[in-house]
Amino acid sequence: MSSVVVVGSFNVDHVWRCDVLPAAGATIAGRYSSGPGGKGFNQAIAAARAGAATTFICSLGQDPGGTMARELAAADGVTVVAESSAEPTGTGGIYVDNHGRNTIVIGPGANFTLSPDFIAAQQETLAGAKIVLAQLESPLESIEATMSAARAAGVTTILNAAPANAVASIALLRQSDILTPNETEFAALLGRHVGQRMEGDDVAALDGNTLHGLCRQLLPGGTVIITLGAVGVFVSHEDEQLRGDTQPYYRVGAEAAQTVDTTGAGDAFNGALAASLAQAPQAAFNTHVRFANRFAARSTEGEGAAASMPRLTPEA
Ligand code: ADP
Repeated sequence: MSSVVVVGSFNVDHVWRCDVLPAAGATIAGRYSSGPGGKGFNQAIAAARAGAATTFICSLGQDPGGTMARELAAADGVTVVAESSAEPTGTGGIYVDNHGRNTIVIGPGANFTLSPDFIAAQQETLAGAKIVLAQLESPLESIEATMSAARAAGVTTILNAAPANAVASIALLRQSDILTPNETEFAALLGRHVGQRMEGDDVAALDGNTLHGLCRQLLPGGTVIITLGAVGVFVSHEDEQLRGDTQPYYRVGAEAAQTVDTTGAGDAFNGALAASLAQAPQAAFNTHVRFANRFAARSTEGEGAAASMPRLTPEA
């Protein structure tokens, strides 16, 4: 039995490190490297390195990228349950500048062929989890199937509503016990579902009471964690469901870090949060948030996405 089941994407990331991000029409030189990525895979590796027995449910092409996913997951002790796709394994093209800022293009490939039927066939695995964690880089009907199977079995669900341009229905959002958008994704969700227009850059500056009210409108009954990059996180609980905390909302500042590359910081946070919740379900929620915050900060100190996940467990 796995304590964390992650459902989502795997990509082979192609990364160019450049002095500045290229403008439209520009040709510049960069230092190339490649490695594994995709939000689902990154989060699964993070959960495993944070100490949780982890299963990763995904769709892979019958190509070297698919083999790479299986081999790297195995090296981190992650069990892979993959639907075999006629499409190529997912890819990502990433530019990273000297400040660690990035621009990303995704080629979804096999990720977009993960089917609801395949998810339905994993019912036992999903029902046996302590935490089921999903993102929005897979077909939304498959993510819906994932969340409803987990919910039906009484398993705690975390939805990382990423990327921002994926349009999750309100019904899907409300199948999550814990919703974890970054500030851009939070602003997009507010625009779509709460009728509140806002720039992602303005989210962190809102006062706590206002942010809490917006979170309550977005996910009544559930917990929202907004990740705010180098500012840290904002947590908002429903009053009747504080998950062991004493306050319905609070901020946790980011940990100091020698940041070189923030790619995958949100994935680090989500994987570590799931792992911590699975390993110590009785602990107050803020202890899980603080651990995930620490884990994510460490992940920014190395290059790459999955590759930069630290080996850091909640007890450490
Ligand atoms: P995403 O990768 O989805 O854009 P964020 O940028 O919000 O996610 O980062 C996720 C989390 O990673 C933050 O909430 C914080 O805990 C941590 N983090 C990100 N950037 C930094 C940083 N520069 N220093 C310390 N922690 C960071």
